[in-house]
Amino acid sequence: MTSANAGLAHDIAIVGGGAAGVLVAIQLLRQARKPLRIALLEPQPVLAQGVAYATPYPEHVLNVPAQKMSALPDQPDDFLDFVAADDADERARLAPAFLERRRYGDYLRARLAEAMVTSTATLEHVQQSVVTLHRHAGRLHLGLQDGSSLECARVVLAVGNRPRPLPARGASSLAPGALTGAWDFEAVRAIPQDASLCIVGSGLSMVDAVLSFVATGHRGRIQVLSRHGWWPQPHAAAAKLDFDAGQLMSLGLRARLRVLRRAARKAMAAGQPWQALMETLRPHGQALWASLSAADQRRFLRHLVRLWDVHRHRIASDVHARMQTLIDSGQLRVHRGRLDAVMQSGRCVRVAAVTRAGKELHFDVDHVINATGVELRVPTMRNALLTQMLGDGLLQPGPHGIGVATVGDGQVLDAHGQVQDDVVALGSLRVGDLWESTAIPELRGQAEHAARVLLA
Ligand SMILES: Cc1cc2nc3c(=O)[nH]c(=O)nc-3n(C[C@H](O)[C@H](O)[C@H](O)COP(=O)(O)OP(=O)(O)OC[C@H]3O[C@@H](n4cnc5c(N)ncnc54)[C@H](O)[C@@H]3O)c2cc1C
Repeated sequence: MTSANAGLAHDIAIVGGGAAGVLVAIQLLRQARKPLRIALLEPQPVLAQGVAYATPYPEHVLNVPAQKMSALPDQPDDFLDFVAADDADERARLAPAFLERRRYGDYLRARLAEAMVTSTATLEHVQQSVVTLHRHAGRLHLGLQDGSSLECARVVLAVGNRPRPLPARGASSLAPGALTGAWDFEAVRAIPQDASLCIVGSGLSMVDAVLSFVATGHRGRIQVLSRHGWWPQPHAAAAKLDFDAGQLMSLGLRARLRVLRRAARKAMAAGQPWQALMETLRPHGQALWASLSAADQRRFLRHLVRLWDVHRHRIASDVHARMQTLIDSGQLRVHRGRLDAVMQSGRCVRVAAVTRAGKELHFDVDHVINATGVELRVPTMRNALLTQMLGDGLLQPGPHGIGVATVGDGQVLDAHGQVQDDVVALGSLRVGDLWESTAIPELRGQAEHAARVLLA
């Protein structure tokens, strides 16, 4: 699939071959009714991995049950078809299960290969990063990492997730190997079993790292540090709740919280877990965001986002139980504090943090793991293409400075607010506009709509 023909003109170029880029490619191939040349630009040799599905390790599982992970909006059981085929018992067993993430990459690649066989369109994987985009004579010109260029009529931006740099003084002067990114799955696995660790961040990436340590039989102490000290809540089997999410849309943030707290208490009094309420809200995430005033969106981002995250982005209950066992045994401790500095001190790293009450915390550890998550602000994403487009006015930051500004089906707004019908974004770049915009249930719908716009 890899192409050396980057110089030839293409109809559509997809920048980024993680899950989102591959979902768009599948939709374009399925929806095309005439010959079409599509380029999928992704520097990695294997498509459909990105960050989430690149892990080769079985301990890293999906945080969404298999029955909700179809890549195709019109075939909701498609992922189950892939993992269990016609075996009814296996389907029933796997539907609510949290499967290994690496299987999801296999699934997307299989569906891409099938779509390529039957489509009137052709797809080439150009194994390059895109570093610039310019308009010239009504065409779009992509500058590639190796100095070559690719010309096309339309572009999809599916550049996905970038890790946030460690927010601490001294991070750049640590000894090589002392600081590891949580998404560097192999490096995390290679940390010696007796090493003492500080994981900065307490969300899903922290859980991934801890699961790797459990898998390697890690014996050293693990300190987890985050501003709030909350970590992801467990999923729980729950029946559908009789709750009308529509009643929230006209309310401000505070009033919504009151209604939700009441509804959660009522559900629990009736023997339902609070998770049932979150599941009921899940399909309304984008509408809930859009119906908040700009001031309430800001308040949410400033004061509530972490609380929301640990309830919304939950983990399998057995994973939660494993985490709790480590906490109960004293091997893992979660601290609440703001990271201030990291300093190399001989072979150790001294981590300095400050609690809300102003108390200083210090840990001397062998390794620091950066699990602070995804960078949402384009100017600090360190993505050459986005930096150039922002600088040249081809896009503007999204609401509250996160993601990029888009309309409708992802058409990007330039610096003057003009809609660019030939540049479409999806996934985490749309987080400011849509909020819920990174998980597969959203990406598959965005991909279908983006393909429709691009083929119109
Ligand atoms: C650790 C983790 C676990 C997750 N688990 C789940 C889950 O279980 N279920 C779920 O629904 N969601 C999950 N998510 C959400 C996840 O964000 C999406 O499912 C999905 O992986 C996002 O895909 P993406 O293509 O938008 O981004 P990415 O996976 O980040 O892929 C973007 C791709 O674009 C490429 N790229 C970037 N810039 C350029 C450029 N300039 N030129 C060319 N290529 C470029 C990168 O190399 C990368 O391959 C998880 C996320 C993370 C981080």
